[in-house]
Amino acid sequence: TATIGVLAVQGDVREHLQALERGGARATTVRRRSELEAVDGLVVPGGESTTMDKLVRVFELQQPLRERIAAGLPVYGSCAGMIMLADRLADGAPGQQTLGGMDILVRRNAFGRQLDSFEEDLHIRELGGEPVRAVFIRAPWVEEAGPTVEVLARVEHGPATGRIVAARQRNLLVTSFHPEVTGDHRVHRLFADIVRESLRERS
Ligand code: GLN
Repeated sequence: TATIGVLAVQGDVREHLQALERGGARATTVRRRSELEAVDGLVVPGGESTTMDKLVRVFELQQPLRERIAAGLPVYGSCAGMIMLADRLADGAPGQQTLGGMDILVRRNAFGRQLDSFEEDLHIRELGGEPVRAVFIRAPWVEEAGPTVEVLARVEHGPATGRIVAARQRNLLVTSFHPEVTGDHRVHRLFADIVRESLRERS
């Protein structure tokens, strides 16, 4: 079976561990390089991207993470995790770095004050018929996506209609929202499928 790590330097780690296990994967925390080397896929959780960036560097994980991402490690980034996977940032904090890997420009805290936190049903074809309850908490959006990025979901209502909030580029998956808090594990199951598929391709 595939083992999926959750980057555990900051953010809502426990909820992702649970969602992964309920979605049918084996899950473990990743805080050091040796733990990173042992996983077949990685979740970068929501939290605060500036803090996560600093801690990733303090823990000397930035370079190993960049190397594994470049080598094709499947990674799912939610909210702050989406920010971490972006090649380019808008409204980043001074000196803020990302891991990168995905050909996207991500705007932090993109929804502004009125939409600081909100929920919306999204229709994501890759997740089947039922809409997904998407919970946004000071969320980013994808402002530009390169030609190899597949858009999975856009905001469907209100002033932010049309903004990209879920996307995939090969083994990298990002969502602006937090599926780990809803009890609906289909996003985690989709990611576990990506991880298993990439394991099969390697063997
Ligand atoms: N606003 C946060 C950031 O910039 C992300 C919020 C979240 O992950 N819920 O990192």
